[in-house]
Amino acid sequence: MKIYKPDFYLKNIFLVTPEFCQKNGIKALLLDADNTLCIYHTNYPVKGVKEWINQMQKKGIKLYILSNAKPERLKTFARNVNLPYFYLSLKPLPFKTIKAVKNLGYKRKEVALIGDQMFTDIIGGNLAGVRTVWVDYIEPEESKFFKFKRKIEKRIKKSLKRSDV
Ligand SMILES: [Mg+2]
Repeated sequence: MKIYKPDFYLKNIFLVTPEFCQKNGIKALLLDADNTLCIYHTNYPVKGVKEWINQMQKKGIKLYILSNAKPERLKTFARNVNLPYFYLSLKPLPFKTIKAVKNLGYKRKEVALIGDQMFTDIIGGNLAGVRTVWVDYIEPEESKFFKFKRKIEKRIKKSLKRSDV
């Protein structure tokens, strides 16, 4: 398997349903925050995320925020959605991902990391040995470095097929 390829490639998190998780043997989800659940620099999830969280939790899917964001904002965000979290996770380094899996009490293959970035979320998840779900970003970024990364991602995405849900 190629380190930059996700197990699943979906338009957004809302396609990850309890049925999807059950079908694929996924018991818990590690969630990237920025551009996956919320817009950069904000403390609140985008429309529909709170309802999605409730729906997943009702069916027994455990959720854990795994973000590279700085403590102050991420803590507020995590409190707003009422989920356990790690900030400054240093993805793609695998250590915090592995620790989150331990905290959840599942095997690595029973856990999937969902995120919008190939270089942090997908490569990080693959290095840690969890399943990976690549979702499209909510909003395009402004910085040159980000635009460069998104260009590479676009090329990779062309070689991927959307996963069945
Ligand atoms: Mg992100």
